Amino acid sequence: MSRQVYINGKFVPSAEATVSVFDHGLLYGDGVFEGLRSYGGKVFQIEAHVRRLYESALAICLEIPMSQAEMCAAIDLAVKTNGIDDGYIRAVVTRGAGTLGLDPNRCSNPQVIIIADAIALYPQELYEKGLEIITVSVIRNHPAALSPRIKSLNYLNNILAKIEGLRAGCIEALMLNHKGEVAECTGDNVFLVRDGRLLTPPLDAGILSGITRDVVVELASKAGIEVLKVPLTKHDVYVADECFLTGTAAEIIPVVKVDERSIGTGKPGPMTRSLTEKFHELVRT
Ligand code: PMP
Repeated sequence: MSRQVYINGKFVPSAEATVSVFDHGLLYGDGVFEGLRSYGGKVFQIEAHVRRLYESALAICLEIPMSQAEMCAAIDLAVKTNGIDDGYIRAVVTRGAGTLGLDPNRCSNPQVIIIADAIALYPQELYEKGLEIITVSVIRNHPAALSPRIKSLNYLNNILAKIEGLRAGCIEALMLNHKGEVAECTGDNVFLVRDGRLLTPPLDAGILSGITRDVVVELASKAGIEVLKVPLTKHDVYVADECFLTGTAAEIIPVVKVDERSIGTGKPGPMTRSLTEKFHELVRT
């Protein structure tokens, strides 16, 4: 279905939504983005996503030519204009067209793009049975080189990990950091359950500060579950009672095997199920 895409304040049919071949977003992955979700026509956690977008932009010295409130309004409008109920929204800000050289100062016009579309979910079966994933050899970007907290258009680190996972027959892949600790998956944060407590790597493990991760931590805390943001190793994964991933598109998805090893009972566990129910309740209201 043809969508109306927002570019720099105007809606145009998707076939006409284009950027320059000199855009540094294309030439160098120089830009930032967000993936958001709408439920019943309402964008979930819109302020948190827009805030992260502006923080990513700040981190790469990219000035977005509109306020955060204007960005929120534009995202809402993209959802309404396309008549999207339960959908997925991609907000992108590129550095804009420049020269063939690296110099970002030669790019004068950041491009603001918002695409609202239907959501392509993991098959329902995987939510019931759980995912099988592997740990890949591609480590997550060293935070001192390119911070994983920046949601930039340069996703090659994650794509290389994804390729390795896919070649091993896994649609998600676990990435370690430069210290050998668990970081995150290619597009999702990681949680473990051990002895009734919820464990997830801290931000300084070199991960994206996931918005679904924050929501899950809050839901768990409200339910009286102790949440620990602590460095985790592959050993912690292998001996965990449960494992699940969180992300805007994936929501909460159980993991039942890592590196061919069953986690816990090898089936989605009770805490994963109960947090999933709470998450569904929250997004429905
Ligand atoms: N880590 C990475 C690398 C991601 O790209 C994403 C988003 N797809 C996540 C974690 C999950 O973050 P969020 O819950 O904000 O979507």
